[in-house]
Amino acid sequence: MAPSSIAILGGGLTGLSAAFHLSRRFPAAQITLLNKDIHFGGWVRSRRARITLKDGRETSVLLEAGPRTLRPNSKSVLELINLLDLSPSLLTVPKSSPAARNRFLHLPGTKGLLCIPSSPLSILTSGLSPKSSSLHSPLGHILLSAVAREPFRPWNRPLMIEDESVDEFLSRRFGSEFARIFGSALVHGIYAADSRELSVRTAFPSLWDAEERGRGSLVTGFLRPSRASATAEVNDLPYQLGNVDEQMRGVSVYSFSQGIGVLVDALLRELRTRRNVRLLSGVSATGLRMNPRTAQFEITTSSCETLRATHTVSAVPLPSLKGLISPKTPLPHLTANPYSSVTVVNLVFLASPGHVLHPVGFGYLVPRASSRHAENAILGCVFDSSSMSTQEAPWSADIVKMTAMLREPVASIPRLVDMLSEQLGVRLPDPLIVRVHDNAHCIPLLRVGHLQRMQELSEVLRGEPWSSKLEVIGAGVGGVSVGDCVEAGRRAGRSWA
Ligand SMILES: Cc1cc2nc3c(=O)[nH]c(=O)nc-3n(C[C@H](O)[C@H](O)[C@H](O)COP(=O)(O)OP(=O)(O)OC[C@H]3O[C@@H](n4cnc5c(N)ncnc54)[C@H](O)[C@@H]3O)c2cc1C
Repeated sequence: MAPSSIAILGGGLTGLSAAFHLSRRFPAAQITLLNKDIHFGGWVRSRRARITLKDGRETSVLLEAGPRTLRPNSKSVLELINLLDLSPSLLTVPKSSPAARNRFLHLPGTKGLLCIPSSPLSILTSGLSPKSSSLHSPLGHILLSAVAREPFRPWNRPLMIEDESVDEFLSRRFGSEFARIFGSALVHGIYAADSRELSVRTAFPSLWDAEERGRGSLVTGFLRPSRASATAEVNDLPYQLGNVDEQMRGVSVYSFSQGIGVLVDALLRELRTRRNVRLLSGVSATGLRMNPRTAQFEITTSSCETLRATHTVSAVPLPSLKGLISPKTPLPHLTANPYSSVTVVNLVFLASPGHVLHPVGFGYLVPRASSRHAENAILGCVFDSSSMSTQEAPWSADIVKMTAMLREPVASIPRLVDMLSEQLGVRLPDPLIVRVHDNAHCIPLLRVGHLQRMQELSEVLRGEPWSSKLEVIGAGVGGVSVGDCVEAGRRAGRSWA
């Protein structure tokens, strides 16, 4: 039966996307969204900070404490851009631009950056060009020999396994050095986590599928067409993309002139116009139960209200949901995954002619250290002023903006600047602006076996007392990227119609 009232717990991107789509699909249902924080958007926090340039002009710089760039592969986000009319504020980075192509690694125990070869040709020529000698990359040799050998390695997936860690998977196919250097760095960049714990089937399902398509070889598998994506298209509701997918042709990453917060603001603006939607901020759910007599959910809140709803979407972190439900009706696996903490530090410097602070490129990542070196506190650093220079137009040439990601809180800013200088191989000046954001327990580490556990959770939600009327979604369930979260909100309540 179609819902007459829906409660949505959590007003991060997942909850807001759910409210947007559910209010369109069920215009007769009364929808109430509760968000514990005063500000909506969860980890999305885009703010501008005032800055005075060398010649005395006043301007502002955009600083992101959470997500900063999106990939155009998520159609659900492109759909929001179309439906919320956000194209005018889109900023895109073409795949062909140096800002997209140049990505670097800093290897613990060394100084400076190494360029990750961006194409087979650049692997072959990385040692030849005198211009690239400072960034001349031994990574090319590791990459080339791992990729060239992979198709000749026999099928080596252990019998009967349904999942393994990203590190185990990559070590099997490409060797342990490749897995440690490239795999751990990638996982640091996306999950701020250890690739030895992250589930490959959850985080990179296309790798697992390619291995099967290639009968053991990923390289062969990627050269064969994927049937899975064709099936997914058939089963999905068509996305309303307008001409946004045209705009995204050839785009590597994108954001908005006022940052990712634009998505949150636009969703809120739209939801506030919907007569069937009530948005409550600074109000948390404190309890959730299904009343068997009325067949309604009863949600107690921090404002001492009891909210009743025929259907509920939980878009709060899974450990928070565990705290809401009664031990008499437990849900499995809500605390199976730990959450990584990330300290994000925005740094803004005044540019000086002739003093280049970083190479043109997206930024760099720091892989897991080998046994001979100590682990680095810095996970990576984004060169915002080249990867999203247009956010500061027309003053972008006057400032250098970068964002460091650390696995632990910053003990001292001068020490951090020293560490960054060493990794960049350039002496950084004193920053003009520093903003430190200690994001505690912000990214779920989806451990090996996550898909299986989530299937078991869905089975329990189909049974009594929930009867499929409670949907559990969010970064800790279906994937952490903004695209995953928006897609999960879009799919919420599909079985309710
Ligand atoms: C530092 C950082 C950088 C990132 N960078 C990127 C990036 O560049 N690209 C990308 O695609 N992704 C990125 N991500 C991932 C992505 O931003 C998040 O996974 C996503 O925003 C999570 O959204 P969510 O709504 O599921 O959860 P959250 O953002 O955690 O929102 C949950 C909401 O629930 C509310 N809540 C909690 N408990 C209760 C309760 N009891 N009652 C009511 N409300 C409650 C909270 O107030 C919060 O607003 C990044 C994440 C972080 C932390």
